[in-house]
Amino acid sequence: MARYTGPVCRKCRALNEKLMLKGDKCFSPKCPLERKAAQTSRSKFRRRISDRGIQLQEKQKVRFSYGLMEKQFHGFFDRARKLSGVTGDNFITLLERRLDNVVYRAGFADSRSQARQIVRHGHIVVNDHKVDIPSYLVREGDVIRWREVSAKTECYKYALEKVKKVEVPAWLSLDQEGMVATVSALPDGDIIASNLNIQAIVEYYSR
Ligand code: SF4
Repeated sequence: MARYTGPVCRKCRALNEKLMLKGDKCFSPKCPLERKAAQTSRSKFRRRISDRGIQLQEKQKVRFSYGLMEKQFHGFFDRARKLSGVTGDNFITLLERRLDNVVYRAGFADSRSQARQIVRHGHIVVNDHKVDIPSYLVREGDVIRWREVSAKTECYKYALEKVKKVEVPAWLSLDQEGMVATVSALPDGDIIASNLNIQAIVEYYSR
């Protein structure tokens, strides 16, 4: 599956929003948006954006955050539309159920792109079966852990420290010492989307 391999900071710059695509590195003052904010705090210039422009921005913000190409992202939306219930909630729930996202949410990786690499490299097992497909959708009750052989890797040792500081969402339970995450419930669209304008995305694709 195609994926974006260019500079990730370009995505944040395009939307003028910190999307935290590089994990902990985004807290550094070297973040281009931090530097830009410091330089432009004097400027009063603000560009007016149309409703369509706002919808596009919101769509791009979520797409970039989950690191998906337009075709994949739109595919998830179409799938959400066919499910019963509220499309926006279904959509965000589907995105959250992706295995790379779960690995990231559990604190096994610093960013979703790193989580995707961990999955692709075959470090993760779901219910005792190796799964190396980042778009794999977890189900309620699924148990996600590292492969035993992966415990010797640097990324595992890094993750072991990282999980101590991570706050996992309510739908995941985490055994920090065993490095095991369990999907205790399916992600709830309402909770996840509280700081995302999912309605704008629904309107964007409904035109
Ligand atoms: Fe975005 Fe992080 Fe790059 Fe800053 S450092 S522009 S938040 S990806």
